[in-house]
Amino acid sequence: MSQKSIQVDNLYTEGEQWVQNLGEKTVHAKRMKGKFRLVKWIAMLVWMPFFIGPYVTWNGQQAILFDIEKRQYHLFDITIFPQDLWMLTMVLLFLAILLAAMTTVLGRVFCGYFCFQTVWTDIFTKVEAYFEGTPDKRRKLEKSPWDLTKIRIKVSKHLVWFAIALLSGITWMLYFGVSWADYFDGSASNTTLSITMFISIGAYTFAGHMREQTCLWICPYARIQGAMVDKQTIMPTYDYYRGEPRGKLNKGEYIEGQGDCIECSQCVAVCPTGVDIRKGQEYGCITCGLCIDACDSVMTKVGKPKGLIRYTSFDEMKFNKPLKALYKRPRVIVYSAILLTALSILTYGMFNIAPMELNILHGRTPLYVQLSDGSIRNKYELKVMNKTDQPMLIDVSFKSTIKHLKSQKGHSGIVIPSGNVKSIYIYLKAFERDIDDDDQVVFLIKSNRATLERASFFASP
Ligand code: SF4
Ligand code: SF4
Repeated sequence: MSQKSIQVDNLYTEGEQWVQNLGEKTVHAKRMKGKFRLVKWIAMLVWMPFFIGPYVTWNGQQAILFDIEKRQYHLFDITIFPQDLWMLTMVLLFLAILLAAMTTVLGRVFCGYFCFQTVWTDIFTKVEAYFEGTPDKRRKLEKSPWDLTKIRIKVSKHLVWFAIALLSGITWMLYFGVSWADYFDGSASNTTLSITMFISIGAYTFAGHMREQTCLWICPYARIQGAMVDKQTIMPTYDYYRGEPRGKLNKGEYIEGQGDCIECSQCVAVCPTGVDIRKGQEYGCITCGLCIDACDSVMTKVGKPKGLIRYTSFDEMKFNKPLKALYKRPRVIVYSAILLTALSILTYGMFNIAPMELNILHGRTPLYVQLSDGSIRNKYELKVMNKTDQPMLIDVSFKSTIKHLKSQKGHSGIVIPSGNVKSIYIYLKAFERDIDDDDQVVFLIKSNRATLERASFFASP
């Protein structure tokens, strides 16, 4: 295979020194078939539920719905109210630690395969390749003067880009109870329209225009990943010992003392972030493995073993040390313990969300009132919250160690609308001779979904 014709514009060098492209040039990565390219396509499917989610119904209503107006969050059978938002903290903790654990074991595998930025960029560049052709053609088109053909190609590409971005923005809003009809019949509020445009323009800008620059100088994760990896972390790595000294080579040719890298630069040509992995690890690498596919295909063509660039650890590459079992790696143990704790708390919370909440406020000013018949009256405010998505019928009763404690009226058949808090005022009276210091009053709230008990005190002179 002759190397003379290969020219790679993604290779940024100043003399011998490789420099990071900080947006001066657009990276037009070549697309090559391969094992990791296929994995990338399959991994991108994790985003399919995002587009399907708003259309899934459960018990006659949208299965995943963030109802901001009613301050209710529906997740299939579970309805979460702001009082239970502590669970969101657990979800965020779980996801953050999962990311850290994944980084320790597999480097930035999240960035390479699952992150919405890289996934959307991959789709946008696929659209670009459809309209503008190969990376070479795209570069030529960029430099060519504006004529009708260039305008037609560019307008078509940007329209499809914006359609994808708009679909992303609208899909996001569907989770908040907005419907497609709202956009067409003019009933969408200004807030809805503003957020939709904000998300759409964001997707269009980040995935279409900024691409790898978002990963390089906006995403904070790229900067902190170094704190999570260790010498056992598996990442795409160039086998320096096998590849160097590199040099051009034709098929079937053998040059004594030359390494296996034939300096074809295909690994750089396919890199979506414009990294030359032969220069060692650096923060632009999103560990997508596409350079492995490229190099493997080159090695096959020149009749050398695959794996000159491969997923491996520093320890394996430099010292030929095998990977340690995960349970022997302190970072993995710590991350796993936190993950397990967060998951357990979350699972417990999800399955134990009370259908109602009860708070009792004892009347303070005054604490009690002496009535004309000599009895003592206390006032209580019972705040009952219905945390279900249906109206709730409740009965209120009480029990106490105070003899002859009486309520001024019955409290049954009270309806509390879904998601509402209702204050129920209860006046209890008893004679001083029947009251002891340590007497308690216990209120009971009964509904068809649950029974709650809360204790309070009875104040007397
Ligand atoms: S590492 Fe592989 S793909 Fe990259 S220049 Fe060398 S031979 Fe080519
Ligand atoms: S260097 Fe290789 S693994 Fe890293 S981003 Fe580029 S193509 Fe992906």
